[in-house]
Amino acid sequence: MRDVLLLSDRGVTLGIVHWTHAMTLMLNQERSKVTPIAFYGDDVVVHSAHDVHPLPSVIMLRYREGRNIPYTDMVKINKKNVLTRDDFKCQYCGEPLTMQTGTIDHIVPQSRGGRHEWTNIVASCKPCNNKKNDYLLKDVGRKFDMFLRKKPRPPKRDLALKRYIQNPEYAEAWKDYVAV
Ligand SMILES: [Zn+2]
Repeated sequence: MRDVLLLSDRGVTLGIVHWTHAMTLMLNQERSKVTPIAFYGDDVVVHSAHDVHPLPSVIMLRYREGRNIPYTDMVKINKKNVLTRDDFKCQYCGEPLTMQTGTIDHIVPQSRGGRHEWTNIVASCKPCNNKKNDYLLKDVGRKFDMFLRKKPRPPKRDLALKRYIQNPEYAEAWKDYVAV
């Protein structure tokens, strides 16, 4: 199932949300927060308990929303987004990565209190990830000649959008709403 473009009440791109989240926002019984403004088409539908709903390709907030919409959904920490932020390169040795060969590495291992957040996570090849294991870079960095190529930062909001619209399906569905 495809993801959904989220616009502000003024039509500014806010992010990309998972289709389940888009449907939740739309079908919220108490107060629907968004209006669908374009759909993927008749063949892209979501089944709820009693109904079939066409999946919107673009949704717009009904009013200015302060806090309840996770604008940052598009930069969720997952392998795809970490690899994308890090240009599909191992941040220790520079080796090009794919979704198959890439892993995400916690710089300070979670077992040592490292947080699951953008600034503590980098794309890593499996050999580097294995070498580093549960150690701290300051302990094994010199031994293995491992160092971080750049300081990891949270990705920019438009990062995911750029990647998405390289996919012709998204480019077509969203072309009226984002600069493709
Ligand atoms: Zn590596």
